Amino acid sequence: MAQLIDGRKISNEILEEITNEVQKIQSAGGKVPHLAAVLVGDDGASLTYVNAKVRACEKVGFKSTRIHLPASTGEEVLLDKVRELNDDPEIDGFIVQVPLPEHIDEQKVVDTIKPEKDVDGFHPANLGRMLLDLPTMIPATPKGILLLLEKSNIDTVGKNCVVMGRSHTVGTPVSVLMSRNKKTANSTVTVTHSRTKDLPVITRQADILIVAIGRPEFVTGDMVKEGAVVIDVGIHRVPAPEKKSGFKLKGDVKFEEVEPKAGFITPVPGGVGPMTIASLLHNTLIASRKR
Ligand code: NAP
Repeated sequence: MAQLIDGRKISNEILEEITNEVQKIQSAGGKVPHLAAVLVGDDGASLTYVNAKVRACEKVGFKSTRIHLPASTGEEVLLDKVRELNDDPEIDGFIVQVPLPEHIDEQKVVDTIKPEKDVDGFHPANLGRMLLDLPTMIPATPKGILLLLEKSNIDTVGKNCVVMGRSHTVGTPVSVLMSRNKKTANSTVTVTHSRTKDLPVITRQADILIVAIGRPEFVTGDMVKEGAVVIDVGIHRVPAPEKKSGFKLKGDVKFEEVEPKAGFITPVPGGVGPMTIASLLHNTLIASRKR
């Protein structure tokens, strides 16, 4: 039976550290960090994520601003909003929640965000600096995954790490970070994707398996090595008529099958998700200090 990696507990510890920092800033008469979140449209999951981010800001004592635009918002209007936030001295950092409606070019939006306010770490300048191991904003989910491993005292040195998925926001950056020559992440990394052949043969070699493919319960027990560390990034709402909300959350990993084989595993919910939020707030603190 696997040891559960409790993302909620670890993220709460990080939020507490941030709260202490905010109190220090306040008692020194400084400006409290201020995060803005832009949401376009009414996607239920995105609304939940943005609200969770705003609630976390309140918890640590940050200021927060939620900007909710209709799904019909034109690309130029959104870009103008981004420019306004770039120039607003009150805002230390901001995010534009993805996915955006189809008529908006996501990359154009990310390119328009000032890198020093890009607390999601998605701007090309920030990703480039990350690649060069220079001080930067590390994308929140990859940063959260590394923190989960570190705080759970999981040894990464020389381990075989398989990353499933190669998105710009999760798979690719986490694969770069895991292959670093660092005390906290120093693994031999394999990246797999939708064209990978003999996927289970590769995943079974993983000492650390990081799954970010966006396919509910795709990873089954036979794909995982005995004792492996399994980090499940996926979040899916699956219908559950017995629940008041009408849905329950599942990951990319079939938990019931994988948990008995794994050494460590993250649950969904309560694994990577809360760490993403804690890392986002940590990035905002860094952005605010730099300003
Ligand atoms: P994405 O942009 O859709 O990328 C998915 C990646 O998985 C792609 O590289 C794709 O390969 C690969 N893939 C798809 N099907 C596959 C298969 N059958 N076998 C192997 N690889 C496959 O997704 P994402 O943004 O990285 O997100 C992944 C999941 O994490 C989603 O469920 C998302 O909701 C969740 N997520 C959670 C958090 C959190 O805080 N917990 C944060 C971000 C995302 P190709 O490149 O070949 O298409």
